[in-house]
Amino acid sequence: MSGVKEIKITHVEKTRLNDQSLENAPFGHFFTDHMLVAEYKNGEWSSVEIMPYQPLQLAPSLAALHYGQSIFEGIKAFKDVAGNVAVFRPYDNLKRFNISAQRMQMPEVPEEIFIGGMKKLIDLDRNWVPAIADHSLYIRPFMFATDAVLGVKPSETYKFVIILSPSGPYFSSPMRIYVEEKYTRAVTGGVGFTKNAGNYGASMQPAVKARELGYDQVLWTDAFEHKYLQEVGMMNVFFILNNVAVTPSLEEGTILAGITRNSAIQILKDMGVKVEERKITVDEIIESYKANQFTEAFGTGTAATISMIKELRYKDFVMNFNTDESKVAPELKQRLDDIRKSTAPDNYNWLVKI
Ligand SMILES: *Cc1c(COP(=O)(O)O)cnc(C)c1O
Repeated sequence: MSGVKEIKITHVEKTRLNDQSLENAPFGHFFTDHMLVAEYKNGEWSSVEIMPYQPLQLAPSLAALHYGQSIFEGIKAFKDVAGNVAVFRPYDNLKRFNISAQRMQMPEVPEEIFIGGMKKLIDLDRNWVPAIADHSLYIRPFMFATDAVLGVKPSETYKFVIILSPSGPYFSSPMRIYVEEKYTRAVTGGVGFTKNAGNYGASMQPAVKARELGYDQVLWTDAFEHKYLQEVGMMNVFFILNNVAVTPSLEEGTILAGITRNSAIQILKDMGVKVEERKITVDEIIESYKANQFTEAFGTGTAATISMIKELRYKDFVMNFNTDESKVAPELKQRLDDIRKSTAPDNYNWLVKI
């Protein structure tokens, strides 16, 4: 294990679980007893430790705070009715994490630490995985630069951390979406395909402005013409056009390759829905809407799974969708949830048992 012999474990003296109800826990507010912390220095991962969840001590000159070498992942674990715990597609998150790391000139995290450490950590805190319908354990691995010197250059030291957050249902009522024409999330040659912290910082102001206009999120468009559709907020986006599921393709490097997106493509095919990954313009969806062939739109992501869109606004043109009549999104969500909770067969080996 690249310099690492074993994971040192320090247990909490007493769990906090007793006075912490997991029922309807708000997303990302509560954390389990333990966390994992690994250190990178001298060109290798050295110590890997599981310890009580606690604040980190960091230098004010910490490189990540100044120059933004900071990446993360979002994964979910579920407990089935028999009490078994399984993580949904963590190897895909590992792959994507290391793609983000490469682009941000950060070291890759080996499988032994990312997956091996995560399994040990979840096993230790398995009582925190809610056994309640629609609840899950949200897993947040992240890495950031820890050099304590000012000067713009890749850091030589890093911390990799995993924290766990039990979460209740993520109620996402159908969204009202504003097609963004001024701000840009991602551009070819940029970092849109990575889960790096700066992407989220840059998205806050456009999201707040959309909210002030009464919209839940923006639909991002390309940087040059504001014509090609990219993602909806922090989710991938699908359009049902003439009974075909169309989603923006990944080759421009401006779309985050969502694992829910990838799972949705597979399940849609299983449902007999044709899927197209390609470029798609705002003009195309408007024409399709006018021809009564644009019937549904939805976002996909780990936190909310599938979020339906009830309104899309482009300039002064408003497209409305009666989500009570949506056929594709509800079945897709149901099928995906059933696989994650082990109430349907896991035909693609997406679940990793703990
Ligand atoms: C995380 C994320 C997604 C969704 O990815 P999943 O792997 O499905 O959770 C989509 N878009 C952006 C910008 C994201 O950060």
